[in-house]
Amino acid sequence: MSRQQDAATGSPRIVREIRINPIVPSESVLVATARSMRPKKEEAPAVPDLRPRVDTCPFCRGNEAMTPPPIARIPEGDDWQIRIVENLYPVLGDDHADTPHAFGLQQTIDGYGRHEVVIDNADHGVRIHEMTIGHLSVLFSTFRSRMEQLYHSDDRLKYVLVFKNFGPAAGASISHTHSQIIAMPVVPDNLQAEVRNSTAFYQAERQCIFCCLIDEAMTFEATLYDRESGEVRRMINPGQFVIERSRRFIAIKPFASRYEWEVHILPLTHQADYIDATPEDLDDLAGILKRTMTRLHAVLGGVQYNFFIHSLPHGQEYAGSSPAFHWHIEICPRTSIPSGFELGSGLFVNTICPEDAAGRLRAIILPE
Ligand SMILES: [Zn+2]
Ligand SMILES: [Zn+2]
Ligand SMILES: [Zn+2]
Repeated sequence: MSRQQDAATGSPRIVREIRINPIVPSESVLVATARSMRPKKEEAPAVPDLRPRVDTCPFCRGNEAMTPPPIARIPEGDDWQIRIVENLYPVLGDDHADTPHAFGLQQTIDGYGRHEVVIDNADHGVRIHEMTIGHLSVLFSTFRSRMEQLYHSDDRLKYVLVFKNFGPAAGASISHTHSQIIAMPVVPDNLQAEVRNSTAFYQAERQCIFCCLIDEAMTFEATLYDRESGEVRRMINPGQFVIERSRRFIAIKPFASRYEWEVHILPLTHQADYIDATPEDLDDLAGILKRTMTRLHAVLGGVQYNFFIHSLPHGQEYAGSSPAFHWHIEICPRTSIPSGFELGSGLFVNTICPEDAAGRLRAIILPE
């Protein structure tokens, strides 16, 4: 059965192919939809903790004494809705006395940095899709201003990573909704690869690869050559990877999605640095993120996920990549546990054809 026939009947497509990630080819994905190809164990659904307040929770309002003093409260005062504190168990922290050692192949970089927790909401059990657009807009502008402050605070901080873990399968250890900000002394490898490859693409094509991907997602057109019949066909299927296009953003299902329900959100007009997002941009982002999380929640019946912001790193060596790199949010729902095949091969295995997943997410009817 060809993929075109499947598309025509609307039944799930049978695909078994390695899809090369156009931006980071080393993060390629084996899309294998046949049941027999399923090497994975499904992640057990977590029982959601929907309580509005928990007496023993350090992130609940009224329990502020259980955390280090706040770095920021929004709004100021006891009625805060968002609160930023130092992480009690930081993965990176202040300088320590010993200088980094180097012995043979054991090279290290001092684990200097900042690790902060953003308590997303005063309500303990509220989920992202249940927060108001107004609240989410304030949250995303809090991320923006904190990133800016951290970059300005110390030249040794090379990257500020904003991310969220939700649910035990995604590594969240405290059930109260929260995000994290880690300011690091190095630029993460995956981000370096994105910047390096998009810069090389820009040098060759004078275009941003992310802008090209957005255009392609909206107007997909391909020339197909059938090896057996010799027939040449054009396949035009606009929007098959698009989940939603808002005024300023687009939510897309990447062609080479590592995770079955992975969704990326990108600004429609070119913007390299998240810090350049305007308040109007962040209002619109809040809306499309809320709707995307609503869709994921509806399809999966509760979603455990990680999301993170990839933005152009600061520093001289990255300034030239501003026309080439395009900031984005990657949402990675956790529905299965990586297998030995994935760890051993470095190939992600995706058992749902991304086009079909996009179709199912798009079909969700959103509440007014
Ligand atoms: Zn709480
Ligand atoms: Zn762009
Ligand atoms: Zn990225």
